[in-house]
Amino acid sequence: MNTFSGTRANPIRVAIIGSGPSAFYTAEFLLSNPDAVVEVDMFERLPTPFGLVRGGVAPDHPKIKTVTRAFERTAQHERFRFFGNVTFGHDLIYPDIAARYHAVVYAVGAQTDRQLGIPGEDLLNSHAATEFVAWYNGHPDFRDLAFDLSQERVAVIGNGNVAVDVARILARTPDELRQTDITDHALEALAGSRVREILVLGRRGPAQAKFTSAELKELGSLADADVVINPAELELDPLSAEYLRSGESKTAARNYAILQGLSRAGQNGKRRRIVLRFLVSPVELLGSDRVEAVRVVKNEICERGHFMSPCPTEDYETIPVGLVFRSIGYHGVPLPGVPFDDQQGIIPNKRGRVINEHGERMRGEYAVGWIKRGPVGIIGSNKPDAQETVEMLLRDMAFHQHFCPANPAREAIDRLLRQRGIHYTTYEDWRVLDQLEIERGLAVGRPRRKFTRVEDMLSALEAVHHAPVL
Ligand code: NAP
Repeated sequence: MNTFSGTRANPIRVAIIGSGPSAFYTAEFLLSNPDAVVEVDMFERLPTPFGLVRGGVAPDHPKIKTVTRAFERTAQHERFRFFGNVTFGHDLIYPDIAARYHAVVYAVGAQTDRQLGIPGEDLLNSHAATEFVAWYNGHPDFRDLAFDLSQERVAVIGNGNVAVDVARILARTPDELRQTDITDHALEALAGSRVREILVLGRRGPAQAKFTSAELKELGSLADADVVINPAELELDPLSAEYLRSGESKTAARNYAILQGLSRAGQNGKRRRIVLRFLVSPVELLGSDRVEAVRVVKNEICERGHFMSPCPTEDYETIPVGLVFRSIGYHGVPLPGVPFDDQQGIIPNKRGRVINEHGERMRGEYAVGWIKRGPVGIIGSNKPDAQETVEMLLRDMAFHQHFCPANPAREAIDRLLRQRGIHYTTYEDWRVLDQLEIERGLAVGRPRRKFTRVEDMLSALEAVHHAPVL
């Protein structure tokens, strides 16, 4: 058995799977810990890092993306390495990790969408909003999808921030979009869009909507889209009124005031309309082969435990729409050989320590971010979450609760990947791609033009590495 004490000569070696915010915060806490020397290797399926900061954050929200500056500092640490284009479960499997590291942290996020479970959900022109988001942000797995933007009326189902992002991107003018790093293919498709009306359907009331206030407010300042809210749908039932009065949620109170303002502002003859509807649950998507309408049941708010639930009435409505985006949340995907809770879509864990179906701790295995706690919270929520996981990991190290790697040498993993013929990218490679994307953007007056195919990224790197030195 290998002994170690987290010293320079014998550091703690940690593999992190994934490279989004929770992965980078985990790396930061591990590397800055004063009590033990830790080396971090981060493995990412794509050649590029940053997970949803690159593939999820809306292109018209560049400020949110500046969080990568902090990740950049972490990546400069001498005990940090990035291995891109390496898929866990395929290029690298659990025994490979356990043989070379003292611990592994799964930071893979929630990679698919939740399902509505209603008839017609799989009709043509019904899409997961998460796919649309990944498409316009240039995630290589989704860049070849097509969305029928010849439809004039679109429904976005859900009242979270992703629903707002999708509605806003559909409503923006080509000029607004051109100022962002939205991908070329999305810019072109959206420039030809015939969408006129975007209905955002919330199953609960205006007091329970999950939007954050800044995102909601932003809808009121789009160049060529009005926001429409039927004042009758803003009338509060007694439970919601009491909830707002109680001051329990500042966001809910702020949101409600913003919604009232948006409703009062009315329409200003702009080309597009975003219509916010409340207390309606889709029960069926109708159409022979493609979506033609969404049938909804009207809800009332009723109390179930401490939760203000949507309770269906006898009242139904059929709303003609030609395109549907289901934006009801993300869902985690299992990793080969790692415990998984199907219902919640997470790796079962206690404060970040992975447990199996019998509730037993899996030595050396940890989870962080959305795959640990479910797909909730903003980027910053991952910081305390990562801190907790790192605390558990380091505490376990002190009690020798870790993998006992047969081959903990730093170069062992490079050797293995090379033997397997895996063309991994380094953090330096990412910096090259980053610079190339910015230069490609500059040439046409845009902030960035992303590479959206893995092969394009790899051949761009190849060209740079083999360019003659002048
Ligand atoms: P979310 O915030 O959980 O919202 C999901 C929405 O779907 C809720 O309104 C939910 O209603 C609704 N829903 C769930 N099941 C439904 C069903 N069967 N029928 C109808 N509606 C249903 O999820 P999200 O929008 O995917 O966002 C995920 C996380 O990322 C959130 O924490 C979000 O704040 C964050 N995010 C942040 C930003 C930003 O900061 N700019 C941008 C994007 C995402 P109920 O409330 O009734 O459950």
